[in-house]
Amino acid sequence: MTEFSFQPVSGLELPRFAGVPTFMRLPHIDLDNPRLTEVQIGLIGAPWDGGTTNRPGPRHGPRQLRDSSTMIRALNAVTSVKPFELINCADLGDVGPNPASVDDSLARMTAFYDRVLEAGIVPLTAGGDHLCSLPILRSVARSGPVGMIHFDSHTDLYKSYFGGMQYTHGTPFRRAIEEGLLDPKRVVQIGIRGTAYDMEDREFAKSVGVRVIPIEEFHSRGVEDVMSEAKEIAGTGRTYVSYDIDFVDPAFAPGTGTPEVGGPNSFQALQVARMLDGVNIVGADMVEVSPPFDQSGGTAFLGVSIMFEMLCNMAMCVKTGTAS
Ligand code: MN
Ligand code: MN
Repeated sequence: MTEFSFQPVSGLELPRFAGVPTFMRLPHIDLDNPRLTEVQIGLIGAPWDGGTTNRPGPRHGPRQLRDSSTMIRALNAVTSVKPFELINCADLGDVGPNPASVDDSLARMTAFYDRVLEAGIVPLTAGGDHLCSLPILRSVARSGPVGMIHFDSHTDLYKSYFGGMQYTHGTPFRRAIEEGLLDPKRVVQIGIRGTAYDMEDREFAKSVGVRVIPIEEFHSRGVEDVMSEAKEIAGTGRTYVSYDIDFVDPAFAPGTGTPEVGGPNSFQALQVARMLDGVNIVGADMVEVSPPFDQSGGTAFLGVSIMFEMLCNMAMCVKTGTAS
C-alpha cells in the first residue's frame, strides 16, 4: 500500500487509457469518507438533464467528462500553475438525481451541495443541463447573494416555458435572482447570441442591472477587454462562474443541445477561463455537454480543458485565501 495522496495518477506511471476514470485522475472521496475534511476543491458530477427544453443528453455528461479528463496533465504550461500541488482536490462522485422528478432532483442536489459546502469545499461541477446551477446556487449563496460570471449563448433568464413551467434550463438565473441568490448588479453574461423568441429575457436583465455582453461586442472588443470588464463587474466579492459549453462555436463544440453559430473558437474558450485569475471564485460549473451529440468526443475534451483552466484559478484563490 502506498501512502494516500491527493495527487492525480500520472500518465508516466499508468497510461491515461488505463484505470478507473475519475475527474483528472484524482482520488475518489465520497461524502461519507473520513478524508472529506481534507478536500479543498471537490469535482462533482451532476448527471441530470430534467430541465432540458430542446435536445437532451447532458445527463451523460459527467461520465464522458470523467473519461476525457484522464487526458489532463497536472501542470498548466501557460500560467505555470500546478493546482494539485497547491491544494487538495478530489472527485466527490455524482449527485444522485431523480430522473422522474424535477422538484426532487433540485432538492437532492441542494442537499448534496449543502454537505459539500459545510465541509468547507469549493465545488467544481460537471453537468448536467443548466438548471443544475440553480440548486448549487441555493447552497453556495446561503451566506448571502453572490456575483456571477456566466459564459453562454443564452441568458437563461426567461420567466417560464410551456405555459408557466418555472424550472427549465432556460430559467435558472431568473429564479436565482428572484430568490436573492445572485446580486444582479454583480452578474455579467458573455457571448449571448442566436435567434430569439422575444427580448423578454434581455429586458429583465436590463431592469435588474445584469450586464449582457452580446457576441458582436465580444468579437469586436476582444477577449482581454471583455474579461477585464467582467472582473470589474464581479469585483472582489464572492463570485460563481457558470460555463455553458454552447458559449463556444458549434464548429468546436457540436456536442450540446442548443447550439448557436458565430461563437468563440476553442482557443478563446480557454482564454476566457484563464483570465478568471484574481476572481473570488466560490464555485464553478461546466454544463450542457451532451455526449450523444458529441460524435468525436471533442466537445467533452474541450469541456474538461476549460474545467482545468477554471480549477487552476480556483486553486490559486483557495491557496492565497482570497476565497471566502
Ligand atoms: Mn445555459
Ligand atoms: Mn446555452
